[in-house]
Amino acid sequence: SPFPSFVMTETLTINIQRSATSRLGELDPANIEFGKLFSDHLFVVDYINGEWQEPQILPYGEMAVSPANSALHYGQAIFEGMKAYRTAQGGVSLFRPLDNLQRLNASAERMCMPTLPEELFMQGLTQLIRLDSGWVPKAADTALYIRPFMFATDGFLGVRPSESYRFMIITCPVGAFYNKPLRVRFEEKYVRSAEGGAGYAKNAGNYGAAMYPTKLAQQQGYNQLIWTDASEHRYVEESGTMNAIFVINDRVITPALSTSILDGITRRSVLQLARDWDMPVEERKVSVHEIVEALEAGTLREAFGVGTAATIAPIAVIGFEGHDYELPMTSANSFSRRASTALAAIRSGQAPDAHGWMTA
Ligand code: PMP
Repeated sequence: SPFPSFVMTETLTINIQRSATSRLGELDPANIEFGKLFSDHLFVVDYINGEWQEPQILPYGEMAVSPANSALHYGQAIFEGMKAYRTAQGGVSLFRPLDNLQRLNASAERMCMPTLPEELFMQGLTQLIRLDSGWVPKAADTALYIRPFMFATDGFLGVRPSESYRFMIITCPVGAFYNKPLRVRFEEKYVRSAEGGAGYAKNAGNYGAAMYPTKLAQQQGYNQLIWTDASEHRYVEESGTMNAIFVINDRVITPALSTSILDGITRRSVLQLARDWDMPVEERKVSVHEIVEALEAGTLREAFGVGTAATIAPIAVIGFEGHDYELPMTSANSFSRRASTALAAIRSGQAPDAHGWMTA
């Protein structure tokens, strides 16, 4: 692999129980459906009496939990989303995994859950991916999606933070997420999160609450919403499980981070590429009015969503107040296309990893 391997600094033993058979034969690499077929193994570690217990890698399968646990009743559950990529040399690479750990721990604090030590997270992750490396698909735009998550396990129904938790990692192969430019609309009624809420955390409840407004938009023929602020629906927040980036004339513009927006790792990487390429980058409040005005004036060159699952998803249509505004088609010169190509080249080891984003 062209990337430095994660080096183990302390001795931490993971008890590995290999699965007797592999389900890899069930995968059709030409037709990968997201989130359906999981790799052979999972990583699991319990937090009991104030301490992380012995970590384990086990065959993927169902598990028993208390029906009274606080994740099921009060949403004490958090997760991350990341990917392992196949390199041109045939190895496997991880993209900015410590950024995911940092965000997982920020989510954990917001939800009164224990944080994960770097060694435990990185060893669990790398050993699991090495064991199931055969599941990292090879075709362009495919990857192994990695889902780390943590939830409360106390068998106690009181409304207070659980004392015990389980952290796990499961993985599944993924193909391209959106295969067509998106139709989105500004949300004018519902909100995903408010300043002071938990929008910056990846807690389960944020996603459950977004499903109904998203379903309404989909019934109207849109793929996704662009969330707006909770007090006035005046400022752009983010889109589905993606941050939103706009190119007006030659300026790259995106909503500044706040307590209501998830601090996306793709977002920060794409903004870094823009800065590397000497494009002006503006992280600030972006009003719906400004975007609609730029759409009408023809100065909105590009709008796109950025996130781990979708990578970079160009937007073709933005709906607002019942009107659908069309965006110009992207070309090979569009910022979103160049950023997408550059990220793919860095991940596959075909371009220099100037910022040290990759680990093997
Ligand atoms: N916003 C939300 C609400 C998300 O769930 C995600 C996916 N994690 C993102 C933005 C994009 O974040 P990332 O680039 O780290 O995947």
